[in-house]
Amino acid sequence: MNYDIGVDIGGTKIAIALVEDGRSIASKTSFPTYEYIDPAKAVERIADAVRLLVSAAELEMKDIRSVGIGTAGLANRRDGILETSPNLGWKDVPLTAMLEAKLGIMAIIENDANAAALGEHLAGAATDAHTSLMVTLGTGIGGGFVIGDYLHKGINFAELEVGHMVIKQGGRHCRCGRNGCFERYASATGLNITTRHIMKKYPESAMWEAVGGDVKKITTFTAFDAAAKGDEAATVVIDKFLTDLSTGITNLINIFQPDVLCIGGGLAARDDELLVPLKRKAAEEVYSRASAVNTVIKKAKLGNDAGLIGAANLVGLKTF
Ligand SMILES: [Zn+2]
Repeated sequence: MNYDIGVDIGGTKIAIALVEDGRSIASKTSFPTYEYIDPAKAVERIADAVRLLVSAAELEMKDIRSVGIGTAGLANRRDGILETSPNLGWKDVPLTAMLEAKLGIMAIIENDANAAALGEHLAGAATDAHTSLMVTLGTGIGGGFVIGDYLHKGINFAELEVGHMVIKQGGRHCRCGRNGCFERYASATGLNITTRHIMKKYPESAMWEAVGGDVKKITTFTAFDAAAKGDEAATVVIDKFLTDLSTGITNLINIFQPDVLCIGGGLAARDDELLVPLKRKAAEEVYSRASAVNTVIKKAKLGNDAGLIGAANLVGLKTF
């Protein structure tokens, strides 16, 4: 059996897993990111966690082939440097060299959305697909594209930033500097903004009661839950959200025409309310709707484990 370590560095937590044969997680652990603002301290903590996982499995470091790191932000895979990560506040951190020095095994880094796409392609919802595109609906929207054994890479490690595709010219301002980006509408954050806007137009909406009159208490559940009970304003929110989501997803299918498009992130759990109408809208709008074969939209299967399994497969992975 081959063993690798997968690390997932996110804005809220850092997860570490011991992965068997690149496909299944033997054991894992995690700790909050906020305790480790200093990257050197975070690397030290990751190295300690790796050693513990390895010894608990009655293995030694020499039995481990690699440590792969999926991280939020712009990960320079060639040089092993996390160039920028707005969520973490880290800049130009030579993560692979730092971990290699601590653990004595080969390390490699990749963007977390790419790692998750690779994980779903190899061991999750897209194992039968030759080409698969993963779109993760979280605080923002991330993407990754896998073709056969290859992970698609851009020239500057910022490929598949699908969240920054403009779907509404002159729309909501985005931290990337443009207006109307996909993630300002179809992410969890985007849904919350839409919910707030619509609630203000419907003072009698049941959503006001649900949040105790405080718009700061709006969550991704607020509109979905109220819409299920027939609240008119919530139905307007969900209709708008689904239209925005299907606009972006249909654009992506038109461009990539993958075998499978996986939807990940917390929102993807909403099957009947999100995935079913999304599939219907995309099928109606996609350019190739008259074709006998079209992209299958699927819910991602591995949750947070996708990034860990993907990260454990980074060494030796081909890219183009
Ligand atoms: Zn943007």
